[in-house]
Amino acid sequence: MSGPRPVRAPRGTEPSALGWQQEAALRMLQNNLDPEVAEHPDKLVVYGGTGKAARDWRSFDAMVRTLRTLKQDETMLVQSGRPVGVMQTHEWAPRVLIANSNLVGDWANWEEFRRLEALGLTMYGQMTAGSWIYIGTQGILQGTYETFAAVAAKKFGGTLAGTITLTAGLGGMGGAQPLAVTMNDGVAICIDCDPRAIDRRIEHRYLDVKADSLDHALQLATEARDRRKPLSVGVLGNAAELVPQLLAMGAPIDIVTDQTSAHDPLAYLPTGIAFEDMADAAAKDPAGFTTRARESMARHVEAMVGFQDAGAEVFDYGNSIRGEAQLAGYDRAFAFPGFVPAYIRPLFCEGKGPFRWAALSGDPADIAKTDKAILDLFPENESLARWIKMAGERVHFQGLPARICWLGYGERDKAGERFNDMVASGELAAPIVIGRDHLDCGSVASPYRETEAMLDGSDAIADWPLLNAMVNVASGASWVSLHHGGGVGMGRSIHAGQVTVADGTPLAGEKIRRVLTNDPGMGVIRHVDAGYDIAESVASERGVRVPMREG
Ligand code: NAD
Repeated sequence: MSGPRPVRAPRGTEPSALGWQQEAALRMLQNNLDPEVAEHPDKLVVYGGTGKAARDWRSFDAMVRTLRTLKQDETMLVQSGRPVGVMQTHEWAPRVLIANSNLVGDWANWEEFRRLEALGLTMYGQMTAGSWIYIGTQGILQGTYETFAAVAAKKFGGTLAGTITLTAGLGGMGGAQPLAVTMNDGVAICIDCDPRAIDRRIEHRYLDVKADSLDHALQLATEARDRRKPLSVGVLGNAAELVPQLLAMGAPIDIVTDQTSAHDPLAYLPTGIAFEDMADAAAKDPAGFTTRARESMARHVEAMVGFQDAGAEVFDYGNSIRGEAQLAGYDRAFAFPGFVPAYIRPLFCEGKGPFRWAALSGDPADIAKTDKAILDLFPENESLARWIKMAGERVHFQGLPARICWLGYGERDKAGERFNDMVASGELAAPIVIGRDHLDCGSVASPYRETEAMLDGSDAIADWPLLNAMVNVASGASWVSLHHGGGVGMGRSIHAGQVTVADGTPLAGEKIRRVLTNDPGMGVIRHVDAGYDIAESVASERGVRVPMREG
């Protein structure tokens, strides 16, 4: 009987599988379950609530066994975390094809999913959990940094220096906000009702200081702002009380957002309940707690709208707080936009998205060399250079050393080919895996997040992620995945991922050139089709063919 045990990817330059493409999948599956990487490795849970790398330990063992003996012309098929077949294909085909958590439309809800999961028939794959390319909290830090950089570019002349951002939620993902703001040279006031969340962020050097009171927080923030010094200040309290108080005080806030766990009303602390009593109160009366949490969220969102009316830049950071406030009857909940339509979509139009890679050698020196290669390749991109330098100094690797940065159409293939050359020349100790989040420009349909408010109203059209998966298979990716649910839940998104291995061979070079051109190319054509001018210019300048624009 196989059961939980510590898992760690092998390091080094000798593959135990029959080739590096298979070895890469093997190491990345194991890396996702490394205790340094995964939230609950004993339960095979990597991140994001219940996002798993394998359905159960027997399936995990079967995948490891199969990957070790898989030939260069074979493909392993994975159905929701369980290997269900090995087929003869060819050397350009992916070595692994993965479909996770997919349900037919009318059945695609949590109730039915949980029923099937209890029967052992499916698992939740999140985005990069079940597709074996999660790299720990670096991913969320970089995404948050990029979002605040986009806010700075759009409204504040390219820097947050001299501005104050107000937010709440210092949890697993929200905890990246203070560091992302200070990396953009801004000042942040971050509210959380859990004192441990504040202390943990200070311990991990994501948050600078803790204020004694709201007045103290405001004083520290305004002093730092006036000196144009980056600073993040944590303050203990309930956001549904403190955000309205700051508004009433006329606090000089420039940017407001929120990352409390509002997507789950049982995880948002209503006013009038002490933090220590929260778990009991939620368990005792979930329906009553939900109503109270939603009412508090309505007050919280109302204050955010108040800041917007007073001229601040306000956005929803993908936690559904607007939807919950609306359910409580607040009719201006959607007065401010989600972060994708507000800042990220122009990047998506250029095929930009979260490009990431990991060093299979396990040697941090390999990542340092790839960092340098990125700086050499894109010297004109200042925000990229700032990120790569700061990441090199401040990001602590979890599991195999890895790096993330946003690159667009015409850039990702250059980086990939350079990495492959570096493996071929022996500059890097072992091959590099190159993948990305499913949250990308042309790989996801998600009307509450990545495809909210598309220009042509095509938010819920899910043909795009299916085409994305198919084009990656056709282009030579090493493994391709197609998932449902991800960060927004069952019934709310369909998304695809790819990982391609730079093993230093000419064949890998050919595959990389195609995959890393066509994959972001999907982002360009998706946004051309929806009518975005930026995407049209990118397509015509960089030669992306769009048949409906030809002839
Ligand atoms: P988490 O559960 O780890 O942390 C949430 C934090 O909010 C906790 O520290 C909790 O104490 C605090 N909190 C709850 N109610 C509060 C209240 N009333 N006042 C002050 N603090 C309160 O969650 P997480 O992983 O950090 O994610 C936070 C939210 O952001 C989730 O809803 C997630 O889905 C969303 N999210 C979206 C994106 C995205 O779209 N890019 C990225 C990351 C997270």
